[in-house]
Amino acid sequence: MERATEQARHRYEALVALAPQVVVGLDFDGTLAPIVEDPSSAVIHPEAPAALARLACLVRAVVVVTGRPARQVVDLGGLEELAGSLPEGATLAVMGQYGHERWDSHSRRFTSPEPPDGLVALREELPRLLASADAADAVVEEKGIAVAVHTRPLPDAKAAFTRLEGVLADAAERHGLQLEPGRLVLEVRTPGMHKGLAIRQAIEDHDGGGTLFVGDDLGDVEAFTAVRELREGGLPALLVCSSSDEQEALAELADVVVDGPGGVVGLLSAFADDASR
Ligand SMILES: [Mg+2]
Repeated sequence: MERATEQARHRYEALVALAPQVVVGLDFDGTLAPIVEDPSSAVIHPEAPAALARLACLVRAVVVVTGRPARQVVDLGGLEELAGSLPEGATLAVMGQYGHERWDSHSRRFTSPEPPDGLVALREELPRLLASADAADAVVEEKGIAVAVHTRPLPDAKAAFTRLEGVLADAAERHGLQLEPGRLVLEVRTPGMHKGLAIRQAIEDHDGGGTLFVGDDLGDVEAFTAVRELREGGLPALLVCSSSDEQEALAELADVVVDGPGGVVGLLSAFADDASR
């Protein structure tokens, strides 16, 4: 927190004082795990599991709020194992697919809704849509109630992203779905949830008296907006951006900007140090 503004420092200290009531919301990719070319090979920062476990013992709940399926994040983060090591009173949870899916360290069960008909239809159309945008080799990631198209592996990833964005926006609209652009990824998903609703739900579910939220990408903007609204209503809150070269919109909404997943782990560990004093 040495580079933080006076206001950010006050917000941080208010949360430290309230730590046992704080709900910590964390994005996964780019926040807890470095961004990698192939999303299936993402690995959580090596020091993150220990930091999460320690934090979970000090705050009301640690909730990973992600666009990924809940099961993927539990696997990639080694959270099942982590859950086994937590004391009874500690809560670690995952809200996957923007809150449609749930998992927590107490039940250790996954819950997920059925994909809507529009998504089933869009999947059938997808090879033709990709070809029409000269992006037939984009990597398609199946996410159950969403489908993500990654242009990162293509020769000119940014140009392919731009060509696909319009095509997929149009298809999403025709099928009553929602398009979520990210860092060289376009995700078409089941509407009705976003990270803003998810973090509000998490704070309500865990009866949070304050919140610390960390994200890195456009999909986190709704969570940042929701947290700012809650703060205007009196909830103590701190917004942290895990910085990257690819996305700057979120940094402008944040109280504190840290340097990628390593910086996030550093901040969470410092918070745990300060909260246990
Ligand atoms: Mg992210």
